[in-house]
Amino acid sequence: MNQKPPPRILTIAGSDSSGGAGIQADIKTIIMLGGYAMSAITAITAQNTRGVQGVTPLTGDFVAEQIESCLSDIGADAIKIGMLHDAGIIGEVAHLLATLPEAKDVPIILDPVMVATSGGRLLQEDAVEIMREKLFPLATLITPNLPELAILAGRDLNDSDAIIQAAVALAEGSNAWVLAKGGHTEDARVIDFLVSADGFHMQFDDPRIPTRHTHGTGCTLSAAIATLVGHGQPLHHAIRLARQFTRAAIENAPGFGDGSGPLGHQA
Ligand code: PLP
Repeated sequence: MNQKPPPRILTIAGSDSSGGAGIQADIKTIIMLGGYAMSAITAITAQNTRGVQGVTPLTGDFVAEQIESCLSDIGADAIKIGMLHDAGIIGEVAHLLATLPEAKDVPIILDPVMVATSGGRLLQEDAVEIMREKLFPLATLITPNLPELAILAGRDLNDSDAIIQAAVALAEGSNAWVLAKGGHTEDARVIDFLVSADGFHMQFDDPRIPTRHTHGTGCTLSAAIATLVGHGQPLHHAIRLARQFTRAAIENAPGFGDGSGPLGHQA
């Protein structure tokens, strides 16, 4: 072997049968960005561009078994966490990531997935506080969209100051970086704020791409950040490149389906 091996990226997330979001979006993203993709599946969804028709979770034990199989043998350079479905799965994932020697010092990019843009519930309501308590403190970066940040903050977020304040409170409570994503607005620009417990750090600002085909955008962004961090990029640079990758994927969306269609992941 004379080539540098690719960064090993583990995604812990749900399956999207239509291939637009979840594990499928993550694996496409990781491969396109030159990573080696592994997966621990938390739940299987039946869904398409119109919505989520069904969800079947795996047991917390079996999610843990998948993670342990990957980390104890191949190891990981970064971990992305997406849909977790319920408190039992969160408890097992948190316990393992806190105790497995192979997980020590591995950057964790946590997308606190709660509800699909189409309206389907992807995290049970009573699991939000357990995620905050057990998983947030293990994360390097948490990437809530505005509806998720509003749930975590317990209030509406009507302007940039309120968004930054809520993101800083989340960073203080977890000691993680927080990327508050501004995609879920009607604004002409998509602005994401990166903050830490020390306060506002920087913002990323691009014009909105006018399209309904944005299914799996959050999954793609967090998987791209994880892969780029796995390549050794500093966090803010990884976020900038991951946003570029995600924007290109939105621009290249094939237009499939009646609803919010999948992205076109390209290298
Ligand atoms: N399905 C799964 C398995 C997901 O993990 C996610 C998002 O995180 C979604 C669906 C929702 O994707 P979107 O809100 O981009 O349509």
